[in-house]
Amino acid sequence: MSDLTATRTIAIANQKGGVGKTTTAINLAAALAERGEKTLLVDLDPQGNASTGLGLEVSARKYTTYDFLFASVRPSEIVIQTPHNNLSVIPATTDLSSADIELMTRARRSYLLHDALRHPEIREAGYDYILVDCPPSLNLLTINAMVAAQSVLVPLQAEFFALEGLSQLMLTVRELRETANTSLRIEGILLTMFDRRNNLAQQVEADARGNLGELVLRTMIPRNVRLSEAPSYAMPVLNFDSSSKGAIAYRDLATELLEKHNKLHSEGVVQ
Ligand code: ADP
Ligand code: MG
Repeated sequence: MSDLTATRTIAIANQKGGVGKTTTAINLAAALAERGEKTLLVDLDPQGNASTGLGLEVSARKYTTYDFLFASVRPSEIVIQTPHNNLSVIPATTDLSSADIELMTRARRSYLLHDALRHPEIREAGYDYILVDCPPSLNLLTINAMVAAQSVLVPLQAEFFALEGLSQLMLTVRELRETANTSLRIEGILLTMFDRRNNLAQQVEADARGNLGELVLRTMIPRNVRLSEAPSYAMPVLNFDSSSKGAIAYRDLATELLEKHNKLHSEGVVQ
């Protein structure tokens, strides 16, 4: 594929920190790549955790998302192929923390990622999936991700207060649909760190499915210690412990999304 319209760009966003965005970005990207989908992970969080989790030392991040956004370097020099087949990354470092302020002075402040992803070198790479790991804020970086994406995947930690803050996120998506990105969809709400034995988690699931219906994905990510250990071994959990519950859940998530996208594609839905 050589056309960006054949690329699915998904922003992984929730302004709450610690809900599983980065864990989802790394492991969904790895699961899609494992299925043969050519995948690019764009690390849009100045903390750079997705880059670290994929084994990229800070010293190996010569160019970063900052250079990508501000178009100071050619994309082919910025994108790094990971040791995993079909999986590349644009890493981030703390230099991205100044980007939010710098963006404010730009005329196309919400479109920098959108424009960068349309660079011929990115088109020619022919990605099937581009996943964007967003910072824990509804700042301009996250807005850039939502303007560049076809859809937003929202990890939601199955705990009390989980649904708080979701309405603000939904409102932002709705506003963007009326302005900068009219075809933006919610890819799904992904329940993370789910513990079946916990009554509260079950209550959160029931509330989420009751209130949000079809938006809540079938796949839920269990609380699994292997998922939290994998980043310190600089690997996706799929490689670190391939048969762990966490690895199985992220493979299930990839299957659910691939099935949905194939179905939309066969129905001729253009997004
Ligand atoms: P965010 O990117 O939203 O801030 P992270 O993905 O970094 O969230 O997750 C926050 C912390 O929770 C990390 O230490 C991560 O390893 C851990 N974590 C995430 N998902 C799970 C899970 N399903 N089971 C256990 N630990 C998890
Ligand atoms: Mg994160």
